[in-house]
Amino acid sequence: MDENYAADKGVFNAGAEFQRRERKDLGSVTEAARDIPVFAHTDVLVVGGGPAGTTAAVAAARLGADVILAERYNHLGGLSTGGLVIWIDRMTDWQGDLVIRGMGEELLDRLPDDAIFGPQKADWGSRDETLAHEWSRRHSAFHGTVTWAPMIDPEWLKLESLKMVLGAKIELLLHSWVVAPLVEDGKAVGAILESKEGRVAVRAKAVVDTTGDGDMFVRAGEGYEGDIDTDNIHHCANTASLLSGVDVHKWFAWQDQNPDLYKDFMKRGREATKHFILPFAGWRNDVVCFMGPRFSGFDVLKIDDLTHLEILSRESLVELLNFYRQHAPGFENAWIMLTGPQLGARHSRRLKGWGRMTGDVTKTGHILADEIGVSPSLGPNIPNVSVPYGALVPDSVDNMLVAGRHISSDAQTHTFMREIPQCWMTGHAAGVAAALSANSGTRPRDLAVPDIQSALIKQGAYVRTEPTQ
Ligand SMILES: Cc1cc2nc3c(=O)[nH]c(=O)nc-3n(C[C@H](O)[C@H](O)[C@H](O)COP(=O)(O)OP(=O)(O)OC[C@H]3O[C@@H](n4cnc5c(N)ncnc54)[C@H](O)[C@@H]3O)c2cc1C
Repeated sequence: MDENYAADKGVFNAGAEFQRRERKDLGSVTEAARDIPVFAHTDVLVVGGGPAGTTAAVAAARLGADVILAERYNHLGGLSTGGLVIWIDRMTDWQGDLVIRGMGEELLDRLPDDAIFGPQKADWGSRDETLAHEWSRRHSAFHGTVTWAPMIDPEWLKLESLKMVLGAKIELLLHSWVVAPLVEDGKAVGAILESKEGRVAVRAKAVVDTTGDGDMFVRAGEGYEGDIDTDNIHHCANTASLLSGVDVHKWFAWQDQNPDLYKDFMKRGREATKHFILPFAGWRNDVVCFMGPRFSGFDVLKIDDLTHLEILSRESLVELLNFYRQHAPGFENAWIMLTGPQLGARHSRRLKGWGRMTGDVTKTGHILADEIGVSPSLGPNIPNVSVPYGALVPDSVDNMLVAGRHISSDAQTHTFMREIPQCWMTGHAAGVAAALSANSGTRPRDLAVPDIQSALIKQGAYVRTEPTQ
């Protein structure tokens, strides 16, 4: 990637400079075999309580399945809360129609008015220049079109996710790191968790992998892909942060009134700091989010890389804070409110599934026979994207479903299917399929697609049932 182009996008190839500690082969130890107590039996075990896991669990429970949702941290929402990814990407298409509906829509509707900020519904799809300019700097207008892509308060999203999960009578296991799936005769039958109680097992009729990194499907022996699109930011990683004490109105007004000074500010920022980036205005006018600097060249599955990313993100934040306090009107009293409790991994592994989303098909606008949802496309000249059920189904292990940022796709398609609304959507579909599979004893790949579609539609999802291909 061209480094100047990359730096303009807030992408920094810090991985190239990282002096990785050489890890020699130091031999191995043998862990003694042991019996693991069975902690619970359930119909559906959902592993990972991020956007995809939350909607999967709720969807399955609302179809009458007993559901256990296991999450390694102390909250729900994954990167959309603990990762401080407070900007929910576009849920409307270029006409302003809401295409990502159902569970994700419900989650946003549950947020109190002061915990979400975005354009009003009447303006979605508007091409009014003034409106589009105003919303574009709050990341809710693209290509001159106002869209529904709001900023949210991560603490309220955690709370409403929790209420939705508890309201659906799901058994929630927090502080539970799931270490391995249980696979018998080619079927997923539960998983083993590590916890302060030690290791325990959960037995289940269906397992949904929503870990984001494919922890379950990889350990069940499924294949995966890890190639990246180097022209896109989808492979970058960093820990995001929130600043408070900011006056966003003052910051925007200064930019409008002083375009030359603003240009100069950007130039000086790039000279004075190693990883200069612009902040995202938050859901309140005294909060901004640094969703970067985006670091490339790291492997988010390696302890040393993850550790270094945490250090680098915090060092960069202090540099940015000092520069902004001194030079950015509106930031004089800024202070660090929070650094992300979860490291922001945009990409690690993607399932090699029964089906696969690929750039050539996603751009055709065809409605696929196994559509389980519709994604907005990347540009106004590209039609809406039909999301296939096959991309959620592993190639060989049965009774397992996969949803979220590690579904089966090529790298190009991952760039948008990893976004939070798309993860809500695939989670919703995987939860429905897991419940139908567990309730009927049918393998996920043998489920009748119309049954999945009609259950999704009853739960408020947008699915088109007349294929064009
Ligand atoms: C810095 C950054 C900026 C981004 N910007 C945007 C944006 O502006 N808009 C947007 O829509 N999207 C954005 N994204 C993408 C989006 O946030 C993620 O792709 C999305 O949250 C993925 O959802 P998920 O449910 O698949 O996984 P995650 O959000 O990663 O959730 C996975 C959950 O599983 C848990 N887990 C993982 N492994 C285990 C295990 N073994 N046992 C138990 N629990 C486990 C994790 O703790 C986590 O809670 C961004 C991502 C990053 C990193």
